[in-house]
Amino acid sequence: MALPLKYRPMTFDDVVGQEHVVRTLRHAIESKRIANAYLFIGPRGIGKTTLSRIFAKALNCLSPNGVEPCGKCQNCLEIAAGRSLDVTELDAASHNKVEDVKPIIDSVEFKPANSRFKIFIIDECHMLSNAAWNALLKTLEEPPSHVRFIFATTEGDKVLATIISRCQRFDLRRIQTNDIVSRLKHVCRNEGVKAEDDALLAIARGAEGGMRDALSSLDQLISFKGDTVTEEDALGVFGLVSRGALEGLAAAILKGDVATILKSIEMFDSAGKNMRRISGELLAHFRNLVVLQALGPDSKSLEATPDQIQVLVEQAKGVDPGRVFRICDQLADMEDKLRYVLSVRTLIEMSLIRASRIATTATVEELMKAVRELRKGAVGSSRAELGSDRVGLETINESNKTINESNKTINESNKTLNDSNLTLKDPKPKMDFSSRSDILDDPKLNAIFKAIPGATVTDIKEARQV
Ligand SMILES: [Zn+2]
Repeated sequence: MALPLKYRPMTFDDVVGQEHVVRTLRHAIESKRIANAYLFIGPRGIGKTTLSRIFAKALNCLSPNGVEPCGKCQNCLEIAAGRSLDVTELDAASHNKVEDVKPIIDSVEFKPANSRFKIFIIDECHMLSNAAWNALLKTLEEPPSHVRFIFATTEGDKVLATIISRCQRFDLRRIQTNDIVSRLKHVCRNEGVKAEDDALLAIARGAEGGMRDALSSLDQLISFKGDTVTEEDALGVFGLVSRGALEGLAAAILKGDVATILKSIEMFDSAGKNMRRISGELLAHFRNLVVLQALGPDSKSLEATPDQIQVLVEQAKGVDPGRVFRICDQLADMEDKLRYVLSVRTLIEMSLIRASRIATTATVEELMKAVRELRKGAVGSSRAELGSDRVGLETINESNKTINESNKTINESNKTLNDSNLTLKDPKPKMDFSSRSDILDDPKLNAIFKAIPGATVTDIKEARQV
């Protein structure tokens, strides 16, 4: 038995990654408020048909387990086998004419044979012809109380507004990579298959959010490679690069290591890897970095396995979030251009070099922060001096240390300043301060203060006069 079929979810509990839909459907059954028609929208292979069947079973089950279908009664078995008299499935991709929906319209008046509801599941409903929809519309407007419709489609945009407004609509989402990986792990354990974690990750990456695709890829790999599946086996199937290689490329960008970037791209290209996929996955990596820096490693918004999160945590250390965000921006821009560019490799090379320069250039925000710290140090020392000379001296020494550290940042930031048209006379001021007045009277430092909105020297000077 093929894996996608064997591991198809049989209950709401089994459904992976569509919690928002499952919750509402369960609640509808619990409160006995079942809408006349439901519409499931979402990409292929994420469980629209499966969910339709579970829902149909739950509605017609003879001995339900709470809201879950029992899976054993006559109705459940017949629905699962596709031969229930009261549940009709129509694939509109191949049956889209008026004649195809006519039997539905004709049978609606008859009471269900052996169940509570007569249920019609119409898959790929956007393919129905306008005439077919028009024929259905009247039934849909005022269906008999024993009739329920479940529509499913990959293209919600193509469903007429008059239809959508008569349905309870659910948008199913792509299943997160880590959810697919845990499901694949479960399947491997059950089947006695040894698979590397990164092999399962590669399969999940290749499936792009579709559980059915992931399971059939695993199926193929098992029949091809036997009971042991490695990352390399899986990568070959999808033309993906290994997780390690991808993370290495991200690290090179963060370090501004242009040589490694160019060498990696050369290697991927000559190995025939899918360059567009690499760019998408790189963007996903940096998006994860942004999420991690903002929400921490336990965030549910992270789309990563525990191994990946470990690497992300390391990479996030000591990198300014502003820079990571700007790299993301640059990569998103590259994704956009990739759609119509001919020389994919050149675009990727240039974009990644630009991203690596972003990674190593200080932002205006960082510069502002450094200057603020500098000012805080200077003001603090003058206040302390009021109390005791000794304490004042110590404070001055300490703030000199801060100032010297900040000098480094300021020198780096001069580049950014120049870019922002905030030109200075001397692009690299040497600031070696031995006393407080040196700081306050230094013309170059004053020039920096003047160049930055909101950062004036007057308050420092006033503090000095006190
Ligand atoms: Zn049942």
